[in-house]
Amino acid sequence: MQNDRKYTDADIRADYDLIRIAEEYCFNYTGSFDFVQGCRDLVAGGGSLNVSLARAVLNCMRVDPTVQSKLPEQKPLVQVDPFERRPRLQIANRPAYYVLRAKFKMTFVLSRAKNATAAHLLRPEKTELWWYPYTSTYSLRRSTWCGALRHSDHAEMTNDSEGRHICLQCMRNRDESNDR
Ligand SMILES: [Zn+2]
Repeated sequence: MQNDRKYTDADIRADYDLIRIAEEYCFNYTGSFDFVQGCRDLVAGGGSLNVSLARAVLNCMRVDPTVQSKLPEQKPLVQVDPFERRPRLQIANRPAYYVLRAKFKMTFVLSRAKNATAAHLLRPEKTELWWYPYTSTYSLRRSTWCGALRHSDHAEMTNDSEGRHICLQCMRNRDESNDR
């Protein structure tokens, strides 16, 4: 719909032609609205409308059926630069990440937190390496049998349990699982 929102000062600063249109409207105004009459006197006396007066007049014109069709079409509040549009659409059509094929042969996942005492068991078939094309970065999506330390930045995969006790929940879940 044309001109379906109120004018803002920014609209007028983006198109000073709107001031001329508002002044013309005031100059020819025969209605009874005090505010526009005052603007008419100002314009008729050789003055000009500033941005906020022009904005108020334009918002009167929006609801005046005798002139509203003469207003230029409003520009969208957010304008998209046509030269930026194409790469953005391409980006939107690319996946945010790719899951890379990887085989993980480590046995344990250890937390690097100071008070960590357990060695969790890696679930290799659920562990993935994600590649983010926009930032050219990898992310290791680790999985353990008990679910601990998933995607943690403070954990690492290793074959050395470092003398820690093996997580009981990990052992239980692995033993109960059919997909080992
Ligand atoms: Zn565990």
